[in-house]
Amino acid sequence: MYLIKLGGSVITEKSTTATFRSLIMDDLSAQIARSGKDVLLVHGAGSFGHVLAKEYELIHGFSSNKQRYGFAATQAMVQTLNGYVLSSLHNHHLPAVSLPPHAMLRLKNQEIETIAMDFFKEYVKQGFMPVTYGDVVLDEGIGFSICSGDLLMLLLAEAFHPEKVIFVMDEDGVFTRNPKKFADAEFLDYIQKDEIDSLQTSLDEHADVTKGMAGKLQTIKKISSLHTDTILVNGLVSNRLYEVLTDQSSVCTVVKGE
Ligand code: ADP
Repeated sequence: MYLIKLGGSVITEKSTTATFRSLIMDDLSAQIARSGKDVLLVHGAGSFGHVLAKEYELIHGFSSNKQRYGFAATQAMVQTLNGYVLSSLHNHHLPAVSLPPHAMLRLKNQEIETIAMDFFKEYVKQGFMPVTYGDVVLDEGIGFSICSGDLLMLLLAEAFHPEKVIFVMDEDGVFTRNPKKFADAEFLDYIQKDEIDSLQTSLDEHADVTKGMAGKLQTIKKISSLHTDTILVNGLVSNRLYEVLTDQSSVCTVVKGE
């Protein structure tokens, strides 16, 4: 079992609202299909989520009546993106089924409170490929909030202990600092859990409302404590995900599980 997250910055155009990168998604679907591996899939919300979520300040919970529209519209937009992702997977004959966070989990003050993990388990048992995604969800402390794809990765890694956890992103992997901002950022092909805190992670221009690379690295730190290796790989370069899935050497960052 491989747990894969397709980053919102890979499958959507982050600078333009609700723009799906269908050619890239099709390429990733083809690589997953060709690998023949059992996969649990998470995808980010990218520009289908972060534009309205920012405008209506959804991450900090309920504060005004007009946010309800923003919440509902965001939920519909990320579900539309999920539909596009599923169609691409189905076009490659993968048995992908959608498990929307807004109907399966609750947060409490932005931390996980409950998740219907039995649905994931049962679909996996029956040979399906569950697909879940960054979404707006109910929050018992602050009314509602955002459940990031990265939080879902941690929850699924804890529940399934996958062979590998893979973050597909729009860069070759982890650098010493943000490669989009600093030309001297150095690529790291291997890092240990304890080195994570020394990395710099400034936010991108069109960063989403979740915590960007800093949050992702903290999630990965927790995943590596489960003795699971995490790999970060570039989804914009064809074949890299396939190489990682089939244990071939590739350009990527490995964070060793301890
Ligand atoms: P995704 O949408 O793929 O889940 P994010 O856009 O939230 O991911 O975060 C990935 C982005 O973080 C990269 O595209 C890169 O621009 C930025 N980033 C910031 N710091 C780093 C770093 N040290 N190494 C790699 N990427 C970084």
